[in-house]
Amino acid sequence: MDAATITSWMREIDIAVRAERDHLVQLDAAIGDGDHGTNMVRGFEAVVQALDSDGGSPPGKLLILAGRTLVSTVGGASGPLWGSALRSGGRVLGDQATFDGMELVEVLAAALASVKDLGTAAVGDKTMVDALEPAVRVLRERVDGGASTEEAVAAAREAAEGGMQATVPLQASKGRASYLGERSIGHQDPGATSTVFILRALEQAVKEHP
Ligand code: ADP
Ligand code: MG
Repeated sequence: MDAATITSWMREIDIAVRAERDHLVQLDAAIGDGDHGTNMVRGFEAVVQALDSDGGSPPGKLLILAGRTLVSTVGGASGPLWGSALRSGGRVLGDQATFDGMELVEVLAAALASVKDLGTAAVGDKTMVDALEPAVRVLRERVDGGASTEEAVAAAREAAEGGMQATVPLQASKGRASYLGERSIGHQDPGATSTVFILRALEQAVKEHP
C-alpha cells in the first residue's frame, strides 16, 4: 500500500458520505442536532480537494493533511475527532513511501487512541468508538493470524458493523446524544454509522491499491 491507497480511501469516504448524507442527517436528527451528514460531507469534500492539490506527499503526510483539513472545516464533534485520528495515524507512517498490513494496524490503533484521548469515550458509550474499537481489534487479530490485508480489513469492517448495530439499545453517555438520557435508547449512533462507511471505504481502497 502507498499514497494511492490513502487517496483512494479518502475519495471512497467522500463518495460514501455523500450517498448516505440524508441517512446520517436523520440518525443525528433523532438523537443529536441533525448535522452529522452535512459535517462529514463538508469535511471529506475538503479533504479530497486538499489531496488533489498535493504534489506527491507520502501516505503518512497525506493522512496528516486530511486530518488537518477535517479539523479546520468541520464544526461538529466528528471533525476534531476524525481529524486528530487521521493525524495520529499519519504520524505513525512518518515519511515512508509504502506500508504493510502490520503498519496499517498501527495507523488505525493510533487513530482509535486519539479519538479516545480527545473524546474520553469507551465502548458502550454509544459513539464512533463502539464501531472503531472492535474494528481495530479484529484487524490486528487477522493480520497477526496471517490473513491478507484485504481479508483483515473486510473482517474489521464486519466488526464495525456489529459495533454500530450494538449502539441501538444503548443509552448515550458521551456527546450531544447523552443530553437525551434514556431517550437516546433505540437509535443507532450516527458517528458509529459513518465509521462503518469509513471502514468500507478502506476495504475498497485496499482492494484497488494493495
Ligand atoms: P456534533 O455532535 O457536535 O453535532 P456530529 O453530529 O458531526 O457532531 O457527530 C456526532 C457523533 O460524534 C456521534 O454520533 C458520536 O459517534 C460522535 N461523538 C460525539 N462525542 C463523542 C466523544 N466524546 N467521543 C467519541 N465520539 C463522539
Ligand atoms: Mg450533530
